[in-house]
Amino acid sequence: MTERFHGAVVWAGLHPDHQAEIGAVALELISAWWMQEQSADRSTDPLFRAAEAADYLLINELRQAVVDAVPMADFNAADGNPKMPSRLGQFCRKCGCTQEDGCANGCWWVEDDLCSSCAKEAAR
Ligand SMILES: [Zn+2]
Ligand SMILES: [Zn+2]
Repeated sequence: MTERFHGAVVWAGLHPDHQAEIGAVALELISAWWMQEQSADRSTDPLFRAAEAADYLLINELRQAVVDAVPMADFNAADGNPKMPSRLGQFCRKCGCTQEDGCANGCWWVEDDLCSSCAKEAAR
């Protein structure tokens, strides 16, 4: 099974300076998204355009703040493959569907990481 990345565990192990930087940038990013969401007319609103620029800037700053604080090895499993964020919940190992993004014709879990659509295909 795909190993999970547990953000809460990694966060607890970070230096407070790194926590402060990552937290501040993450909150600013949310404020940029909020400003975009509140825009009445995206094509003419100068605040929307500026907030889009903030979005782009802050996503890059967030990535850099995390890269500076967290060893990349924490994002990879022992086999070298990337870990899946733990908060995603269940996902199908064959098609990647999730609880929130199921297969087009509907599906359910037949194993912890296998959906009914893919189990059916494998049985054919
Ligand atoms: Zn599937
Ligand atoms: Zn599915």
